[in-house]
Amino acid sequence: MKLHELTIHEACGLLKKRDISSQELTRAVLDRIESVEKKVEAYITIDAETAVKQAELTDKEISKGNILPLSGIPLSVKDLICTKGLRTTCASRILDNFTPQYDAFVIKKLKKAGAVIVGKTNMDEFAMGSSTENSAVKITRNPWDLTCIPGGSSGGSAAAVAADMCLGSLGSDTGGSIRQPASHCGVVGMKPTYGRVSRFGLIAFASSLDQIGPLAKDVLDCAMLMNVIAGYDPADSTSVPEAVPDYTSFSNKGLSGTTIGIPKEYNETKGLDPEVSGAIKNAVKVVEALGAKCIEITLPHTKYAVAVYYVIAPSEASSNLARYDGVKYGFRDKEKNSLIDMYRSTRTKGFGAEVQRRIILGTYSLSAGYYDAYYKKASQVRTLIMEDFKNVFKSCDLILSPVAPTPAFKIGDKVDDPLTMYLSDIFTISANLAGIPGISVPCGFSSAGLPIGLQLMGRHFEEKKMLTAAYNFEQATDFHKKKPEI
Ligand code: GLN
Repeated sequence: MKLHELTIHEACGLLKKRDISSQELTRAVLDRIESVEKKVEAYITIDAETAVKQAELTDKEISKGNILPLSGIPLSVKDLICTKGLRTTCASRILDNFTPQYDAFVIKKLKKAGAVIVGKTNMDEFAMGSSTENSAVKITRNPWDLTCIPGGSSGGSAAAVAADMCLGSLGSDTGGSIRQPASHCGVVGMKPTYGRVSRFGLIAFASSLDQIGPLAKDVLDCAMLMNVIAGYDPADSTSVPEAVPDYTSFSNKGLSGTTIGIPKEYNETKGLDPEVSGAIKNAVKVVEALGAKCIEITLPHTKYAVAVYYVIAPSEASSNLARYDGVKYGFRDKEKNSLIDMYRSTRTKGFGAEVQRRIILGTYSLSAGYYDAYYKKASQVRTLIMEDFKNVFKSCDLILSPVAPTPAFKIGDKVDDPLTMYLSDIFTISANLAGIPGISVPCGFSSAGLPIGLQLMGRHFEEKKMLTAAYNFEQATDFHKKKPEI
C-alpha cells in the first residue's frame, strides 16, 4: 500500500496501532506532491518544513498515547482560509504578500485535532469561478485528464485530493465551489448548512452564501472532517449554537424509510449532458434498490436561481472587496502619489478581470437608482427559492440531482464566455441561496473517462441524513475506488 493513497480513516487506524508514523505519512504525501505537482499545479504554497515538524510532534504525542481525531493526518487548505504565519493569497495579486496574524476557526480546530497542514491550494481568484482558471497564480489541471479543468473554485483542493497529494482538504462553497470540483475530480465534497461551520478567518466573497466544507476521498473521511470543523463560534455572528452530532456513526442498513425527491426541473435543464443524465438515472436505481422511495418534486423558482445568485453574490462581493484599497492589506501601487490614483491603480492592477466584473456588477445592483430593480428584486426571489425547498421538504427527506451539467470541460473552453461559465452552477447555486446542505459523491464516468458526481441536498442541519444516504450509495457502488492514472 502506498501511504499517500490511504484514506483518512485508514491512516488513523494505522497511526493508532503505530504501524506507520505521521512522519512517514507526511513525507509520503510531500514526495507525492513533489512528483506530480508540475503536472497538476494544485498548490499555491507548500509548507513542507512546518508539516514535517508538526508530524514529528504528533508522533511524540501518539507514542505517549495522546491520540486525537486527526492525529498526524496530512491535509491541505484552500488558499482563502487564514493560516497564522502561512501566506494566504486568495489566488489574487492583491493579497500576494498577505500573511495572516491568526488562524481561522476551522484551522484552530484542525490543529487542535492533531492534523498536519501541508499547504494551501489553488482556486479561482476570491473564489469567483467554476474552473480555477481565474487564479492569478496558475491553472490547476484535472488529474483524470490534464487538458481539462478540475472545476472551481476549490479546484486545487479537489485535484489535490484526487491525485493523493493530501489525505483531505478544506474548501469553500458560495455557489457550488466544493461540490462542483469534487464532482469533476471524482472525490466527495460537502457544503454544510449555512451557519454550521464558522466563517471566522474565511476571506469573504459573498457573506450570506459562503460556507467552508470538506473535500475527501470518501464519505466517511468527509464525516470525520465535519466532526472536527462543525460547531458554534461566537466570533461568527451567523454561527448557529446547534449541537454537533457524531457525523461518522452512519447506519449502513440501506435507505428504507427515506424519501428522495427528484426535481422535475433538473431533468428539463438545457445543456444537461446525456452521459450525466444517464449516470443520475442509474443512481436513482441504486438508491431505490437500497430501499429509498423516490418521488418527483417541483422547485418552480429554480429557473431564476442563476440570475438571482449573480445579482446577490456580486453585490456582497463589491462591498466585501472594498477593503482592498492598497492601504490596509496586501498590494499597493506605489508609483501613484495622489490617494485616488493610488486606489484606482492598486485595484486595477491587483484584481483580475472576473473580480473586476463582479465588483462593477455588484456596485451597479446596489446603486441608489437600481437597488430596487436588481438587489431588492433578487432578494425577494431568493425568499421564493427558499420557500420552494421548505415546501418540498414536507414530502421528502433528501433531494437528488446532478452536480454539474457536464463532466469537466477543456481548459480554455469557457474562459472567455462568462455567461456560459455561470451556467455551470445551475444545480448547485440554489442550495447556497436557501442555506441548505449539499454533498457530491462519485456516481459514474463519462465515455472519455471523466468522473461524474451525484448531488444530495438535505434540510437545514440534516447533514447526517445526507451523509448516511451518501455512505450507503457509496457502499453499493465502486466509483470512488477508481483512481486517476497520473
Ligand atoms: N461559480 C460560482 C461563482 O463563480 C460559485 C463560486 C463559489 O462557490 N465560490 O460565483
